[in-house]
Amino acid sequence: MKKITRKLATALLLVMAVTLSACAGKDTPDTPETPQTPAAEEKMFNPGTYEGVAKGFHGDIKLTVTVDEFKITEIVADHTETEGLGDNAIEQLIASAKEKNSLGLDLMSGATYSSEGFLAALEAALLKAGGDIEKLKVKADETETEKEDSVLDTEVAIIGAGGAGLAAAVSAHQNGAKVIVIEKMPNVGGNTIISGSAFNAVDEKRQSAQGIEDSIEKHYTQTYEGGDKQGDPELVRVLVENAYPTIEWLESLGMEFKDTVFTVLGALWPRSHKPIEPLGTGYINTYMNYINEHKDDIQILTETEAKELVVSAEGRVTGFLAEGNKGKVTVNASKGVIIATGGFGANVEMRDQYNKIWPTLTDIKTTNHKGATGDGIIMAEKIDASIVQMENIQLLPMGDPETGSLSGNIEQGVENRIFVNNKGNRFVDEGARRDVMTKALMQQENSSMWVIVDQHSYPTGDTVNNFNESIDSLVEQGRAFKADTLEDLAKQIGVEPENLKKSVEAFNDSVDGAKDEFGRTLFMEKIDTAPFYAGARVPTVHHTMGGIKITAETRVVDKNGKIIEGLFAAGEVTGGIHGANRLGGNALADVNTFGRIAGEKAAKNE
Ligand code: ADP
Repeated sequence: MKKITRKLATALLLVMAVTLSACAGKDTPDTPETPQTPAAEEKMFNPGTYEGVAKGFHGDIKLTVTVDEFKITEIVADHTETEGLGDNAIEQLIASAKEKNSLGLDLMSGATYSSEGFLAALEAALLKAGGDIEKLKVKADETETEKEDSVLDTEVAIIGAGGAGLAAAVSAHQNGAKVIVIEKMPNVGGNTIISGSAFNAVDEKRQSAQGIEDSIEKHYTQTYEGGDKQGDPELVRVLVENAYPTIEWLESLGMEFKDTVFTVLGALWPRSHKPIEPLGTGYINTYMNYINEHKDDIQILTETEAKELVVSAEGRVTGFLAEGNKGKVTVNASKGVIIATGGFGANVEMRDQYNKIWPTLTDIKTTNHKGATGDGIIMAEKIDASIVQMENIQLLPMGDPETGSLSGNIEQGVENRIFVNNKGNRFVDEGARRDVMTKALMQQENSSMWVIVDQHSYPTGDTVNNFNESIDSLVEQGRAFKADTLEDLAKQIGVEPENLKKSVEAFNDSVDGAKDEFGRTLFMEKIDTAPFYAGARVPTVHHTMGGIKITAETRVVDKNGKIIEGLFAAGEVTGGIHGANRLGGNALADVNTFGRIAGEKAAKNE
């Protein structure tokens, strides 16, 4: 089995970025001898080395930028952005800035704050170098006059390069197909790469070693009932039965998971698997490593947005039309098209259009990357696909107050932490369903709460959370608070010390077996050992459970219940698997499992 190190994966992503640029028909990198961009023909800078600093996601991004008269020759970055995500984004932006000799670069999806910080720091440095900032901000594509349309033929064509799309690409290839994947953002990964990464599966080996009893039937019942019995029983069954085989498949591709399972927020049971690599980078790196090894057969076009499905006179989907930065792209697929465009969590208009459950979603932030705009649902609906359960929009009570993202969350699994409101009182069973917790949070003052943990969650200051952020760094950035006593912690966060103490005492009694005031049943350690920590959280839009109706074989169904030939869908773009509420840890099980099935079915679809 091949072990993928983070460095190797990063290098591969970089290779990929350059390769993708070439695939997408962008300019090849300049060399000092042959300046190629229009900007490089005239004097642009005062040669020298300049510094620029700006705020990234985790503190300052400092760039040391070297320029000659015509172009940027070197950029060295000093930063503490998220490992495996923000740092990859910066490496890709450095490559693009040098290649394009420009500030007119697209933000990397899933790493918006890191990208913005990078561009602001680069702008500061280039300003010092005497650069014409307005001119440098013009995107390379906008300066090009000649557009070139292209027509591409393949066997399986996939729209969207997130978890489901890339799983489908690998699986389709393993089943003998030539594949093209298009992705509208400059980088692959979608919501999957920024996800918390937990993957639910009944796993005899890991669970029995931890003394955890579980069964496929239990996973089925919790998923089905946890979604208020609105999920399609057949699809739920496919999900729970194929989740563990999908973990084994990922492992066969080189992905590594930790030896122990845990209960991710809203999972209801300890069957959540955690990858070794941070966030969802493990999934994406695993698929990209495979794809990079089979470049002749699997082509990825980034910055290429699908607009419309093409249907033959017989009603079969034969391809799609897309818009690339160089012109229109027509993709013909002889075996099948797979829609894997993700959900619509970042499309406020669509959220408002379908929201029936929440008081309002208009001003609520999201954990999603900005490409999660529901395009696949809209395209499928135009050709009469059945769209189901669009009102089922999931919020989490765990958003960062500033960004809505999940990063900065100090909980380490469900069992060892409590939530208190601005008065210092608990208000909900913190092991409950996600919708139950979020609704309870929305009833608290400012819809805001504090997560409280102790040394059991962070034995040392450099222990990291699920986002690879050390607790010390979060405290330093003012995103978490640390104290030796609960009184002091309460004072720092502005809640009533007596209330906080009572809340913690009552929780500790429940750990000892007393009946919990809120009916909580998931416990492990008491909160009784200094240092104590607190972190603020607010509601955030996380997952859209509605979407395209599919069969167990991931075939898309039309409004009359008939299969649309040649069309498949997988991942968050589909609807009706999770019902009214998705269990924590079931999304990555869904995305990877159904992506894998879609790839196989499409490849075999003569
Ligand atoms: P899933 O978890 O279902 O795989 P993700 O959000 O991880 O969903 O990935 C979906 C991907 O699809 C994202 O990278 C997103 O940018 C991409 N995408 C969305 N709409 C389009 C489109 N119209 N054309 C090409 N790619 C798209």
